[in-house]
Amino acid sequence: AESSSQFRRVLLKLSGESFSRPGETGINPDEVSKIAEQAARVARKGIELAIVVGGGNILRGATLARGSGVIKETTGHYMGMMATVINGLALQDALEGLGCETRLMTPIRMEEVAEPYIRRRALTHLTRGRVIILAAGTGSPFVTTDTAAALRGKELEVDVVLKATRVDGVYSADPEKNPHAALYESLAFDRVMREDLKVMDGAAIGMCRDNGLPIIVFNYKREGNIERVVAGELIGTWVSD
Ligand code: UDP
Repeated sequence: AESSSQFRRVLLKLSGESFSRPGETGINPDEVSKIAEQAARVARKGIELAIVVGGGNILRGATLARGSGVIKETTGHYMGMMATVINGLALQDALEGLGCETRLMTPIRMEEVAEPYIRRRALTHLTRGRVIILAAGTGSPFVTTDTAAALRGKELEVDVVLKATRVDGVYSADPEKNPHAALYESLAFDRVMREDLKVMDGAAIGMCRDNGLPIIVFNYKREGNIERVVAGELIGTWVSD
């Protein structure tokens, strides 16, 4: 495929769904090791890799709280952040098992299991070739790990945010439901916002747009795609100004 230049430092956003089998919840070790193998190959090439992990395979705060009347929505969001830590621990072991040096970092302190997220320390890890796994999102409720990805991507000065999905990119309609849905090769932030296209949540899109941080939405299910996208191959949908 055609390619632009290779990225040097990237932020990979892995949703919780990449930790489970399609249509299932929880953690499936085979799925975790598949994604870890792809990520490890990228790290071995000397690409600086920060991974923001989601938690939707375990729990989403808003969904849990909706209609329950028992658990407050705020509590649900904190629970969701904890869910991302569970995924982060699984991914850490999978990566370390492949010989990859990693650090799990969280903005909510839990020093027995993860380092506190400190920007300068995160940058040191990256420059020393360690994969940093960023869990517990932003540390604040009412946002998602997409927002955390945009925020950390900006502050860690990555070249691009890579949003891993199960489909090939951003479509004019849901491709799992509509066979006529067309895949966009590139999109402007303004159009994504105007047409409410499914790239990342609104807060994350706004933050990437305001900071000129491009996003590539791509299919992580195709073996080798994480390497391809990092190498600058023109796969997926590129979202920029
Ligand atoms: N969450 C939060 N603040 C954050 C990141 C996440 O409150 O900064 C909570 C929120 O309830 C969210 C849940 O954690 O639904 C799991 O994250 P997310 O939905 O982003 O997971 P994904 O969709 O990527 O699997």
